[in-house]
Amino acid sequence: MAQRLALPASLDVVIVGAGFGGMYQLHRLRGLGLSARIIEAGTGVGGTWYWNRYPGARCDVESMQYSFSFDEALQQQWRWTERFAPQAEILAYANHVADRFDLRRDIAFETRVTSAVWDAGRAVWTVRTDRGDVIEARFCVMATGCLSAARMPDIPGRDSFQGATYHTGHWPHRKVDFSGQRVAVIGTGSSAIQSIPVIAADAAEVIVFQRTPNFSVPAHNRPIDPEYERHWKDDYATKRAEARRMRTGILYELNDQSALVQEAAERRATYERRWQTGSTQFMAAFNDLILHPAANETAAEFVRDKIRGIVKDPKTAEALAPKDHPIGTKRICVDTGYYETFNRDNVRLVNLKETPLDRITATGVVAGGVEYPVDAIVFATGFDAFTGSLLKPDILGRGAITLREKWASGPVTQLGVGVSDFPNMLIVVGPGSPSLLSNVMVSTEEQIDWLADLISYMEGNKLVEFEAEPQAEQRWVAHVNERAKETLYLSADSYYNGAEIPGKPRVFMPYTGGVRGYRRILHQCAQDGYSGFTLRDAAAASGGANRKPEVSAA
Ligand code: NAP
Repeated sequence: MAQRLALPASLDVVIVGAGFGGMYQLHRLRGLGLSARIIEAGTGVGGTWYWNRYPGARCDVESMQYSFSFDEALQQQWRWTERFAPQAEILAYANHVADRFDLRRDIAFETRVTSAVWDAGRAVWTVRTDRGDVIEARFCVMATGCLSAARMPDIPGRDSFQGATYHTGHWPHRKVDFSGQRVAVIGTGSSAIQSIPVIAADAAEVIVFQRTPNFSVPAHNRPIDPEYERHWKDDYATKRAEARRMRTGILYELNDQSALVQEAAERRATYERRWQTGSTQFMAAFNDLILHPAANETAAEFVRDKIRGIVKDPKTAEALAPKDHPIGTKRICVDTGYYETFNRDNVRLVNLKETPLDRITATGVVAGGVEYPVDAIVFATGFDAFTGSLLKPDILGRGAITLREKWASGPVTQLGVGVSDFPNMLIVVGPGSPSLLSNVMVSTEEQIDWLADLISYMEGNKLVEFEAEPQAEQRWVAHVNERAKETLYLSADSYYNGAEIPGKPRVFMPYTGGVRGYRRILHQCAQDGYSGFTLRDAAAASGGANRKPEVSAA
């Protein structure tokens, strides 16, 4: 590891996190001639793809679309090898981007931001790190990711286990050899669904502890067909533009028809075609699957039937078939041989709904009074989503209010990018934006372009401070909720609404209005002189509580 980058005492911008968001933000800010550094806890770039190295980890968005579009030469030259890129290849891509744009010289690795304190009189953030750095910056960009605070469940006896333990979101940087081992996997979200088939191929025994089953559709992953690659690259810009017009930011065939207009047999054939194609485009089989309970149920029952058809033991099949939430209201999983894995002799399912998880002992996991002896435990128990990483450092805004206090009842943002009382703090793909309901690469690029334009506008107009207006923020939160109510999302307990953590405020966080709708709103906001934000010049900013806004167009 090269020597750690020394951080200067004063900067235009501190960026927290060297995932795709942080890297692109740095690139854009350099283009504006601003001084910026990224502070990153890991030893390398890649964010999610740096930490999530569990067996079987791969993207659920097709490789040709899960990549940057801002540089034509980059998108033409990079070669993906599989339809859905494995983690190692996405990490290699992140490293390629860092090298290609010479980003590392401005990244301090192995450094955590511990606090950021707003100095209202001077309009600067004072950012401190666990390495003792103290940096004053005009702007602080939180590019910390929605799924980066790995969550270990509070299971009694957890720390008494004598074998090896792993968390999928914090996997070791070496190959873990499970051969000959008895392995418990706790959790059945996307990470478990991807890793279980791979672990089962090596381990002597895999015991899956399932509290809630999830819907999963096949990936049908395969090597990239050169014809398909050419089809994309021949006209990449147009395809990217088409993708940006999709609700999810992913280009796929949409059927703009209700599921309820087709006869049962025809509808089944539609789902069958989608199932054979694979991937999340299954949810685009009809236009009302996420809007109408009866329409949704047709898709849910199709997948449940598939599970019953694949899994030979009827009791296991029934336990794996989700019945407690509409399909798609938790992020649908995309798998390679997940359900088939339960037909292996060395894999069994423990249904925690029937036999609750009691405790962990020195030698195993106890559920329903039965001890299952294991050598290793894999916690595939997810993250403190959306807010976990934003609330880790002590962030103190105007009047020393902390972000934790501000968001005690759930996150409030103006358009997902700014928070009142926290001037010049910018959030990338956070709560209140399409984020996890979209192709995060598309959302990241779009938001960062907007943030860069905002900073450029401020520079051009000699403005030093921007701040979300409280009323605008309340209106945006209400709008996010109104849009969510039009859908079925609220009928599921999910990390979209804080259900993943006991005691976390139950607020629906991502914006369901789609990538296209969100872009229009951001664009309009900018056109209106950044409506819903107050922009101040130096005199107004230093005027303290009685200052007059320089520009306010709410
Ligand atoms: P997750 O979807 O939040 O799943 C966590 C699992 O752990 C759930 O099954 C949960 O059960 C279980 N769990 C938590 N605490 C438990 C406890 N005390 N006892 C028993 N079970 C417990 O997390 P994830 O699988 O890491 O996926 C998170 C997100 O990351 C995905 O939705 C996706 O957005 C992203 N991801 C994407 C990919 C990809 O394909 N690109 C792969 C992996 C992850 P309950 O549901 O009952 O709480």
